[in-house]
Amino acid sequence: MDEAAAGHRGWGPHWTDRAEPLPRYDVVVIGGGGHGLSTAYHLARNHGIRRVCVVEKGWIGGGNTGRNTITIRSNYFYPESVALYDLALRLYERLSVELNFNIMVSQRGVVRLAHSEADMELCARFVNAMLLNGVDAELLDEAALRAEIPALNTRGRYPLFGGYVQRRAGVARHDAVAWGYARAATAMGVDIVQNCAVQGFEIEGGRVVAVNTEKGRIDCGQVALCVAGHSGHLAAMAGFRLPITSMCLQAMVSEPVKPFLDRVIMDPPTGTYVSQSDKGELVVGGGLDLYPSYAQRGNWPVLETVVAGLVDILPAASNLKMMRKWGGICDMVHDSSPIIGPAPVGGMVLNCGWGTGGFKAIPAGGWLTAHLIAHGEHHPVSRPFDLDRFATGRLIDEAAASGIAH
Ligand SMILES: Cc1cc2nc3c(=O)[nH]c(=O)nc-3n(C[C@H](O)[C@H](O)[C@H](O)COP(=O)(O)OP(=O)(O)OC[C@H]3O[C@@H](n4cnc5c(N)ncnc54)[C@H](O)[C@@H]3O)c2cc1C
Repeated sequence: MDEAAAGHRGWGPHWTDRAEPLPRYDVVVIGGGGHGLSTAYHLARNHGIRRVCVVEKGWIGGGNTGRNTITIRSNYFYPESVALYDLALRLYERLSVELNFNIMVSQRGVVRLAHSEADMELCARFVNAMLLNGVDAELLDEAALRAEIPALNTRGRYPLFGGYVQRRAGVARHDAVAWGYARAATAMGVDIVQNCAVQGFEIEGGRVVAVNTEKGRIDCGQVALCVAGHSGHLAAMAGFRLPITSMCLQAMVSEPVKPFLDRVIMDPPTGTYVSQSDKGELVVGGGLDLYPSYAQRGNWPVLETVVAGLVDILPAASNLKMMRKWGGICDMVHDSSPIIGPAPVGGMVLNCGWGTGGFKAIPAGGWLTAHLIAHGEHHPVSRPFDLDRFATGRLIDEAAASGIAH
C-alpha cells in the first residue's frame, strides 16, 4: 500500500539469500520449489524449528512451481484425496493474508467439459462424490454450460453435452507462492541457498547424517526431499528406488487479448485445458509427453493435440499467436497420488509424486511434511499417502477414479 502510493521506488529484496550454507542445520530441505519452501515455512511457523536450510540447485520457483498453469482445485474422487487437496484449497483461500503477500488467488471456477452421454454420467458420478466429500460441485447441462462460458463452441468436432463446475476452484500466481513462502520463512530465520545442487548423502548406520552439495558438506538432523521430477535421481544417491517416472509436461501462452474467458476450462477428452491470465494471455496446457524424459521443453505432437482441442472448443482462439511454450519434469506415480512419508533411509522424509497437479497442494504438502518431520509421525491427512501403500496395495488410484493424469 505504501509502495503503491510512493511509486514503487522503495522495494528491497523480499527474502535473504545465503551465499554459503552453515556447517549444520536441524533440517535440510532439498528443493526450493513450492513444496520445499512451504515445508520450511511450516517447520518454522507451526513447530518453531528454525535451523532449517532450503538448498536449491537453480533458483527458487525455477522448477515446476514456476512452470505450471496455476490451477487450484479439489475435485478429486476418493475421500483421502479430497481431505488433502481441499485442505490445500482452504489454506490457499487465506494465504495472501497469512503471508502478507498477494498471491492473487482468483476463485473463478473450474469447468470440466463432457463430450458424450457416457461422459455426462462420469461427471454426475464426480459431482456426487465431491458433494459426499463436502466439496462444492454443480452438474451443468448444455444450456447451463453455454451460459457459464459463452465463448464455448458446443457444436464442434466433438459436441459438448455439458459438464460440471467447482466454483471455489480457480487460479493463483505461481511465482508469488514461492516468493511469499520464501519471504515469510527467511523472516523466521530459515536459510535459502540457491545455485547449490545436492550431489550425495552421508549415511551412517542406515541414517542420513549429512548432505554433500556443490557448496560443501552440510551436517543435518533430518532431510526433506522435495525435488519433484528429480526424486528418483536423489533417491538413487541415497541408495533406494522410488515408484516414480519422470516425464515432461508442457504448457504455452498466447498473445494477450481482451478478457473473454473468466473460467478455467478442463477438457480431458480433447486433452486441453485453458484459462485467461490477468494480462489477457490464454494459458494453455494438456497431457504429458508419452515417454520418460528430463528434457524441459515438450514435444510437437502433444502440442498439436492440445492446440487442436483448443480451437475446437474455443474457435475465437484460432487466430491467436502462441508467444512461448515451456516444459517441466513431473514426478509421475502409477496411482496418480503423491508420496508423503518417511524414506527407506532414516532421518529422511519424502514429499514427491505430485506429478502434473502439485501446485494446488503446496500449502498442505508443506504443512503435512513439516508435521511429519517435527513429530516423527504422520498427520492423519498424510497417512494414506505413505510410501508403504506400494507394499500394502492400498493405492489411492485417482487415475482410474477421476481420470487425473498425475
Ligand atoms: C506445464 C505444467 C503445468 C502444470 N499445471 C499445474 C496446474 O495447473 N495445477 C497444479 O496443481 N499443478 C500443476 N502442475 C504441477 C505442479 O507444477 C507441480 O506438481 C508442483 O509445482 C511441484 O512442486 P515441487 O515443489 O514438488 O517441485 P518443483 O517446483 O519442481 O521444485 C523442485 C526443486 O528441486 C530442485 N532440485 C532438483 N534436483 C536438485 C538437487 N540435486 N539439489 C538441489 N535442488 C534440486 C529443482 O531445481 C526444483 O526447483 C504443472 C506442471 C507443469 C510442468
